[in-house]
Amino acid sequence: MLTGDQDLPDGIGMARLAWTRLPTADGAPPEGSVPASPTAAWDELFAGGVESLDYEVIENYAYREEQAQRGKFWVPYYIVLKWVFSLLIGVGTGLAAIFINLAVENFSGWKYAATFAIIQHSYFVGFVVYIIFNLVLVFSSVYIVTHFAPAAAGSGIPEIKGVDTHGILLFRTLVGKIFGSIGSVGGGLALGKEGPLVHTGACIASLLGQGGSAKYHLSSRWVRIFESDRDRRDLVTCGCAAGVAAAFRAPVGGVLFALEEVTSWWRSHLMWRVFFTSAVVAVVVRSAMNWCKSGKCGHFGSGGFIIWDISGGQEDYSYQELLPMAIIGVIGGLLGALFNQLTLYITKWRRTYLHKKGKRVKFYCSKDNEYNDLATIFFNTQDDAIRNLFSAKTFHEYSAQSLITFLVMFYSLAVVTFGTAVPAGQFVPGIMIGSTYGRLVGMFVVKFYKKLNVEEGTYALLGAASFLGGSMRMTVSLCVIMVEITNNLKLLPLIMLVLLISKAVGDFFNEGLYEVQAQLRGIPLLDSRPKQVMRNMSAKDACKNQKVVSLPRVSRIVDIISVLRTNKHNGFPVVDRGQNGESLVIGLILRSHLLVLLQSKVDFQNSPFPCGPGILNRHNTSDFVKPASSKGKSIDDIHLTEDELGLYLDLAPFLNPSPYVVPEDMSLAKVYNLFRQLGLRHIFVVPRPSRVVGLITRQDLLLEDNGNNVTTELQSTSV
Ligand code: ATP
Ligand code: MG
Repeated sequence: MLTGDQDLPDGIGMARLAWTRLPTADGAPPEGSVPASPTAAWDELFAGGVESLDYEVIENYAYREEQAQRGKFWVPYYIVLKWVFSLLIGVGTGLAAIFINLAVENFSGWKYAATFAIIQHSYFVGFVVYIIFNLVLVFSSVYIVTHFAPAAAGSGIPEIKGVDTHGILLFRTLVGKIFGSIGSVGGGLALGKEGPLVHTGACIASLLGQGGSAKYHLSSRWVRIFESDRDRRDLVTCGCAAGVAAAFRAPVGGVLFALEEVTSWWRSHLMWRVFFTSAVVAVVVRSAMNWCKSGKCGHFGSGGFIIWDISGGQEDYSYQELLPMAIIGVIGGLLGALFNQLTLYITKWRRTYLHKKGKRVKFYCSKDNEYNDLATIFFNTQDDAIRNLFSAKTFHEYSAQSLITFLVMFYSLAVVTFGTAVPAGQFVPGIMIGSTYGRLVGMFVVKFYKKLNVEEGTYALLGAASFLGGSMRMTVSLCVIMVEITNNLKLLPLIMLVLLISKAVGDFFNEGLYEVQAQLRGIPLLDSRPKQVMRNMSAKDACKNQKVVSLPRVSRIVDIISVLRTNKHNGFPVVDRGQNGESLVIGLILRSHLLVLLQSKVDFQNSPFPCGPGILNRHNTSDFVKPASSKGKSIDDIHLTEDELGLYLDLAPFLNPSPYVVPEDMSLAKVYNLFRQLGLRHIFVVPRPSRVVGLITRQDLLLEDNGNNVTTELQSTSV
């Protein structure tokens, strides 16, 4: 076993950019780090750990063998299956969305019907019934999450952004998410269902990608061909887009959301499939809605989905209005940034003082039993309340006092509800808050610019956009979603203006909501840009004082076990002797692959020398596949006898022979960009090479299918 720079050829180092907070041996968060979660549910997740994904294709011997053996139908089959899965993800997510909406709308319908009927006789009893209804729904949601699917808490969006959080994409999480969000949204909490739907789509996609749920024996082998994290992640991206498309009935918004918010690693050909999945969702949802319109689905008719048709809104705008609109942008930025900051404090506070079972729920119900304009906001589903706020002045008149009261109350409720142990989306509360102050500003504009044809509803919509921009910091996707949900293209330039201002103002103060959430839960996300200081640091600086832990090509089993036990690294350089006896780094072996080899034992050998050919058909790539988002194997699962510990293992056939390498003096900013753009997990840092064997340029990559170089041919024919 080699442990230490001095043992490695040429002082090789390992660069890891993701900041990692590994739990200590007893599962507690390490010192000096922010503990992972606002609730015990997330703590359980954190104890399981968060891991990077392996986007890189490991071109080891098993992989190359398999590639060579594939028949000519394999590629078409693979492509067809990819598209079929995209279709199924769309259908599945669409149906899940309909089911959630149907349940929520019906529960709300029964709740309001019962309350109204009772209120005719006694206000008090009606109020009590209303509370009981909400309590039952909310507590059932909490129960599902805390006892059945801890990973279903929260929105789920930060957890699926480019890392593998244990338990986040399991079948039980999917079930917990669907039923949990029915309870939390139906129970009137200040939250929405779009975050849960994104997570639901991702779970459906991941389950399809691994061929079903292995744990519940629902998996099928013939569809299990998506073996790399890369393929599965592409499906998850489709699932996320499908979630947004289903929640807002905004297919293009879904595609852009996946691009802007979800994937840490986007490839252009993925756009096609994501687009297709979103289109499928749109069709499924539309067909179901048409079917339900005739009253076959109880209280679920045209409403439910996050969509407010305000096509009758303000026709035009004058330049004088740009100032109040810019002000809305600034307010959105300020209130959004404040929201992020407050949720951060509250979550930390809750973690310190309320971190016990049974103290995790916050709920609200309207105490206002008078029949006034304030009650029409509170005593409504949030969707209807927003529809009223967006409506033109003639339909609904609110007093400034009611709006301010509502704003303060709902803002506080949304802050407090954030981080409770229920599935939660932040869009709908954000739209509620934003549209309230937007309408307030609209009222003032109506008063001051008397001659203009101003509609308060338009200002409410801009307010909603500004708050979401100020808190979530998305731009393009948010803009498209806002246009799609309001069905009013005329307002596009205004929404863009407001979003740009609110994002800029918010960015001045802190990070976006999803980034804050991710930090709180110990999820190591990499920003899209490197930090300024990285420009003055080199790759070597990043791995200063690091003793590289590596393995010789033929390692003793006992040594491998001790390496795996004594540190938590997930990748190890493998070193061999060259022809002249010098050390040579021959590749990188992953911890997960080592564990598979140790468990199967078939490759153990008596000799301490490299194995001959012929042992290699014992594995195919699927042996090395880790089930999505489950803990995978651990060193504690390996049980070996004394004799076995004395045997050897030749690692050469199983390692990644071509890991990415950077010279030690490359700036860390450049390493960061490589890492981020290629979706890497490990990079070797090496000294300057002594010679160059060749150069590749664009021309070398323009190959025809038969392997000939196009440009060279062109040149030779033209001579
Ligand atoms: P992930 O678990 O998502 O793969 P991580 O950041 O948790 O990523 P670790 O392997 O635990 O990765 O790495 C933590 C630190 O240890 C990093 O600073 C990294 O550079 C260093 N490191 C990783 N592998 C080795 C190794 N084989 N030898 C020495 N140091 C390593
Ligand atoms: Mg780790």
